[in-house]
Amino acid sequence: MYHPRLQSFGALLVLDADCRRIQTTSTNLTRLTGIERPENGQFTLACVLGKRLSQRVRRELQGQQRLPGPLVFNRSKHSNGRFQLHAYRAGEQVIVEIEPLNPLGKRRLLGTVNERLMHLAEATHQEELLDALVNAIQQLTGHERVSVCHFDSDWHGLMVAEALGKQLPSLLGQRFPASDFPVALRKSYQNYPVRLIEDVDAPPETLMPACPKTRLNGCFLRAPAPERQRYLNRLGVRGSLSLAIQGDTGIWGLVFCHSVTPHSVEPPLRDAVRTLVQMATQRMLLLRARQEARYLQRVQDSLVLSARARSEPQSPQQMLHEQAAIWMKLFRAHGVVLWMNGGAYQAGMTPPPEAISQFVLRLERAHVHSGPWCTREIAKETLTCSLDMPEQCGALAVPLPMNSTQRAWLIFFRPEQVETLYWAMQPTTSPHPASRAAPSTAWQEEVVGKSEAWQRVERLAAVDLGEDLTLAISAYEISSLNRHLEHERKALAEANQRLEQLAHFDPLTKVWNRYRIEEAINAELVAAKRYAAAFALLLFDVDNFKQINDAHGHSVGDDVLVALARLVESSLRGCDHLGRWGGEEFIVLATHSDVDAAFGLAERLRSLVAELRIEGLEQTITVSIGVAVWQADDSCKTIISRADDAMYRAKHGGRNRVEMALEPVELI
Ligand code: GH3
Ligand code: MG
Ligand code: MG
Repeated sequence: MYHPRLQSFGALLVLDADCRRIQTTSTNLTRLTGIERPENGQFTLACVLGKRLSQRVRRELQGQQRLPGPLVFNRSKHSNGRFQLHAYRAGEQVIVEIEPLNPLGKRRLLGTVNERLMHLAEATHQEELLDALVNAIQQLTGHERVSVCHFDSDWHGLMVAEALGKQLPSLLGQRFPASDFPVALRKSYQNYPVRLIEDVDAPPETLMPACPKTRLNGCFLRAPAPERQRYLNRLGVRGSLSLAIQGDTGIWGLVFCHSVTPHSVEPPLRDAVRTLVQMATQRMLLLRARQEARYLQRVQDSLVLSARARSEPQSPQQMLHEQAAIWMKLFRAHGVVLWMNGGAYQAGMTPPPEAISQFVLRLERAHVHSGPWCTREIAKETLTCSLDMPEQCGALAVPLPMNSTQRAWLIFFRPEQVETLYWAMQPTTSPHPASRAAPSTAWQEEVVGKSEAWQRVERLAAVDLGEDLTLAISAYEISSLNRHLEHERKALAEANQRLEQLAHFDPLTKVWNRYRIEEAINAELVAAKRYAAAFALLLFDVDNFKQINDAHGHSVGDDVLVALARLVESSLRGCDHLGRWGGEEFIVLATHSDVDAAFGLAERLRSLVAELRIEGLEQTITVSIGVAVWQADDSCKTIISRADDAMYRAKHGGRNRVEMALEPVELI
């Protein structure tokens, strides 16, 4: 049969669901409160609390799980006089817990609490804050040892702060295995953050008459379970008060107040301690948030500052080169790799390239989501255990989305961090911690093969850095793409210019080629027709050029052609044009020229050429020129043909001469 076991510092009433009739009470009810069960008639809540208060309890519990706060009542008949009560529903029953309130200097308590709260508010570091907290609690409750235990991610507890009297040993810096804090225990703190065990060894009270369906799991007065009792016994603790420290993601740790003798803690004192713990928790979260914000800011600054320092975006390689030392310091890493486009930029102590590419390949396959991936045990982690990374123990890899198909990776590496842990207790797999070895078996553990853990804020910072880096890399890629495009554009313009040259100019003499001069003649024909403005065409050919080639070589021949073209071109008006018609034949297109002007020009050119001297060439250069002046029905072909005829006549006439095209004979 189920016998609830209760502590004796309070009394308990079990009522029916409508909160009237008392079904059973704890065995200490009369002793503690002076209330007796009536000989005859019904035992109701009104018998205990009086009519008004019992009505109030009923009213406040209507549709609620528990009373919003404790109620205080007086029993003048009893020596103590004042009591505090709590009431809540448990299944089909209502449980009322009653505790005596001793007259206490409430004002003095408030004063102390306020003063201590000020201390907490002034703390600037977590250590300072927790020290202030444990000292404040010890001063208020007078426990022998007040300590703060912080849970790590595996639910092992580490004693991080302590206020110590003379009678209990220090636990500071010691670890308690997760098995000391079973899930059920941690859960109960989540629901009821304060747990008082006034006297571990006190004989428990029970319910009278027995009430099999009563369940007292959440009851503040419940006695410690036998295994908890034995556990505290072995720690040498008889009185214990513990409070949960609720972090932002669950239970952060516990405050333990221990004493070697039974230790009562009055409700107002408990409330004061709870307020202190809550204030300290808030302050701690604030300090941590500030610290994290400062850290994140420093990581951000590392990129922003360098970006601001230069207007040109840096290449990923330059960025890594400049920032690696700062990043490694911020992330407590000894090596960093930026993997991009199938290659690695690296700084510090990094794995061999082959291992890095294998690592990235596996990350790409196994780690598809966008968050960071990390391990502190490279040699044990499935993804990394077979990779050749002897110098590395920890890795934090952040994917950087470069485009829809490709990711770059920023990877930090940490070395092994051998750590000595001081365990207060042997861990056990047994669900009952008490059943394992005695606490005298405190032991040290060397943790090897692990790096320092990657903290949440470090992972967050790595994501931030990754985002900034992605932007910086994109900015660089865009700017180099622009540079490339600009280069391409220039190359294209140059190619066009070359093409234009090829299309319109003779490569040897740099004067217009046959195609371009033909174009010009055609344009001139159109203009001449429209405005009846005559123009002339001079076709000239170097005399005995073959001889020059034969006697001095082709390249001297070339020099002659170039010098000739220069000379003629430079002596023309701006509106006249010179073009190479082919071989050693040239055409001069003389605009606005009649027969006389054309002849004059031809003569001038002829005599100019005859004076031309070429280095290394004794003989003079002469040309024979045929001149045709525009006629109304001329086409390009006819005017050239007439000039050609004239030129041949000049040849036949002895060379170095000018001949005019014959006017067509007018038929009468
Ligand atoms: P003529 O007085 O009757 O014009 O005699 P010629 O020797 O100048 O006449 P011909 O047409 O027989 O010879 C022209 C030569 O010009 C033939 C050819 O090898 C040469 N020639 C044509 N184009 C070039 C060129 O670009 N460079 C050089 N060096 N020679 C060229
Ligand atoms: Mg010739
Ligand atoms: Mg010729």
